[in-house]
Amino acid sequence: MTTAINRILIQYGELTLKGRNRRDFERVLGDNIRHRLRRAGIDWGVEQRHQRTYINVPADAGERLAAALDALSQVAGIATIAPTVFFEAERTGQPHRFDPEPIERLLVAWAAERHTPGASFAVRVNRADKRIPARSDQLARNLGAAILRETAWDKVNLSRPDQQFNVDIYEEGTYCHVDKRRGVGGLPVGTAGRVLTLLSGGIDSPVAAYLLAKRGCEVDFVHFTATRVQQTRAAEDLVARIARQLSCYTLRSRLHLLPYTHFDLALMGHNTGFDVVLFRRFMARVAERIAGESGALALVSGDSLGQVASQTLENLVSTSDATALPFLRPLIGMDKQEIVDLARRIGTYELSIQPYKDCCALLSENPRTRSDVATLRAMEAEIMPNMDALVEQTLAERICLHFDSGELID
Ligand code: ATP
Ligand code: MG
Repeated sequence: MTTAINRILIQYGELTLKGRNRRDFERVLGDNIRHRLRRAGIDWGVEQRHQRTYINVPADAGERLAAALDALSQVAGIATIAPTVFFEAERTGQPHRFDPEPIERLLVAWAAERHTPGASFAVRVNRADKRIPARSDQLARNLGAAILRETAWDKVNLSRPDQQFNVDIYEEGTYCHVDKRRGVGGLPVGTAGRVLTLLSGGIDSPVAAYLLAKRGCEVDFVHFTATRVQQTRAAEDLVARIARQLSCYTLRSRLHLLPYTHFDLALMGHNTGFDVVLFRRFMARVAERIAGESGALALVSGDSLGQVASQTLENLVSTSDATALPFLRPLIGMDKQEIVDLARRIGTYELSIQPYKDCCALLSENPRTRSDVATLRAMEAEIMPNMDALVEQTLAERICLHFDSGELID
């Protein structure tokens, strides 16, 4: 039996961060990691030293190790996650003693377990602690030789190996790992301000929300429903399930559910030809009010330029005109397939393709591709002279759900 995993080593990507920014980044990341793990029922020590974050894995971790790795792979700001066997450096006051023996035994055991006929391997040694006398390349060669000698592996490939064996030597000791995985990357949620995402039941807007969380934003959601919202059924709503899944990444998020009925009634009997754009402007106004309450600094939507008739540049400009808040559209330059790939990766795709009656679909079969702000403003003045009241009536029927780390919170 190989030595059990006793630490998870976490590394960040944005190494360009310096000074105070970096300290804030690390503090928030540490808090988010602890929080995310605790919500998954895992209460292990998370430590941050020497620009590294590591988690002590208890000997009785069992299946919780896999759960912890899955949770960590949803925490923004983490570039890589490696379950490791850690050998603590002996501190004698002298340049510390380095014993390659147990490391060699471990790598040989790992190699024996993982041997695949015809596959190649490489041993990578990274020696951050230069007080250790052995040179990294020499050490890597010795370890590689031991694997060749004692296991069935017979092919070394240093540039593109099928399997890597890693040894990272730091001040505090040596980390050995074979299964490093990629994290979300980006920046920790809570380091970049709050945004409010206009969330539909579709594929795109959940991906837009995720991308903002990935860049460090706290993200809330607002959704307009075709029918009146009922508190008792709200949590089963498809959009609520999408929001819940997104909260695996966004951590703490609110979902505001609002009826579109007041707007729809106002529009009744008018043949504008601009229903969809007018509704977008209405959503922006309501969202701006909610953003004001929660301190959100920008609105986010899932628009991708030209993807559908309503997403022409003119229509996007017309929508932005309705609010003083900036409108962030992180998918603007992405192709549908790229968006779909991301949606699959974050687990919203399967929810988004379920049948759902979105109010935009009820509005107009053929939205105009051209619109201009002056015309829309004039229409609104005529059709909805009581715009503020419509916004108020809509807000009055709001239902708010709270999510945290993939769960609904009461
Ligand atoms: P999605 O896949 O996100 O639904 P889409 O390509 O279907 O996007 P539209 O339906 O035209 O595009 O919507 C454009 C954007 O408007 C959405 O990405 C979303 O941000 C916002 N939006 C649309 N419908 C709603 C809604 N009912 N409630 C809140 N926001 C919405
Ligand atoms: Mg849609």
